[in-house]
Amino acid sequence: MLKIRTLAIVLSIAAIIFFSRAAAQDSKFVPMDDYYSLMVKFHSVDTVLVVFPSGNLITKADSAFITGFVFWGKQPHYLFKEEHSLKSSDYKMNIQLFGAYYLFSKKRLLEVPIEQCDAGFRVDTNVFSHPHDAFFYITDSATRFYTCKNTPEAPFPIRALVTGAYQLNVFNGYNYALNGFYSDVTGAKRLNSVSLFRNRYFKQPYSSNFFNIFISNDLGADSLKRSIAQEIDSFVLQLCSLLKCDTALVPTTNLYFYKNREELQLFLAQPLGNTMYGKSLGDANHIAGLNLSILKHEVGHTVIDNAIGLNPNPFWQEGFRQFSDYFFSAESLAKDKDTTSQNIQLLSSSLVSNSNGIYYNNWNHYAISGCFVKFVIDKIGFTQFKQQYIDGSIEKYILEKHNLSMDDLIIEYKSSVL
Ligand SMILES: [Zn+2]
Repeated sequence: MLKIRTLAIVLSIAAIIFFSRAAAQDSKFVPMDDYYSLMVKFHSVDTVLVVFPSGNLITKADSAFITGFVFWGKQPHYLFKEEHSLKSSDYKMNIQLFGAYYLFSKKRLLEVPIEQCDAGFRVDTNVFSHPHDAFFYITDSATRFYTCKNTPEAPFPIRALVTGAYQLNVFNGYNYALNGFYSDVTGAKRLNSVSLFRNRYFKQPYSSNFFNIFISNDLGADSLKRSIAQEIDSFVLQLCSLLKCDTALVPTTNLYFYKNREELQLFLAQPLGNTMYGKSLGDANHIAGLNLSILKHEVGHTVIDNAIGLNPNPFWQEGFRQFSDYFFSAESLAKDKDTTSQNIQLLSSSLVSNSNGIYYNNWNHYAISGCFVKFVIDKIGFTQFKQQYIDGSIEKYILEKHNLSMDDLIIEYKSSVL
């Protein structure tokens, strides 16, 4: 991911009006709520009650995600309850529903403009019963937050994408199918048929060895698709050989090229206050313009995530991806070393653990994490690093095998660069 999260809250009213108008003019998208008002309000309480359908236990990974979710720095305390054990006093709390929507049975929890149907849910006449369909919805009063996916295996895109600039967000896998505002009080609605917009926005896709390439109608000639395809296919082969991983593990990935970042952000429902030029999301990469360096950044994530493995911590994730650039360019290593030594005070164990989501607050963190990953790889070896990366246990390994806490390791690193 290549983005910086800046507080939407500091945007001036003038900027909001300008951005909203620009969005309305450039496409048919409903303007977003740049303040994420409902998400902020829902998470502003001390305790959230998570309710799941009776008999459908929440996986460890899902409950860790729920309790670890930080929205604008606010982290409530979470209680968990099966639906059948709800008491009437519980309804006074802010409730987060989690699980397959069609499995809930309490009428009081179903008074929202989303209907249950066989193996799924329905928004007006749109039926979403694919196992990978999911929706996220917050009521007008911001006391109910629906985080409902049809199956436990369905991806959970709010892990990877800040979601909440719209009241209703319907996903098929990692793609928005529908989003917008839909009042549970008045029934008033303003919705985007994102799937339809997507079909209209892109030219016929072109397939290469590893990719299906979608280019905005407003962007370049068709011949570009072929040259991009060749360039990026050969990048994947080179990267896999350098990272010593198997190209067979790199899945066919969709590449979406938007005219500019404003349009990319409309399709990913990201207010313009969060600057985003590229985004690797599930089986797709989203790129603003025909920018090869952003493309390679995002494709690098795809290769690492699939052919090596996933590490959800952005410090390690972005750092490892950044490190992969150093194989290709001594210049990029030199540049990152320079940035790191000039900003060395930013490196701390809180940054490494991404506490309070600080990683994406500063562009310099990319360079710092890249150089630090290189230092760790030089210390423990590349094969060992890859293993600990996918096990999510780099810190533990260094403590056990090298008897160094993260603070110790950082001190050692700093003394090597200063
Ligand atoms: Zn990235």
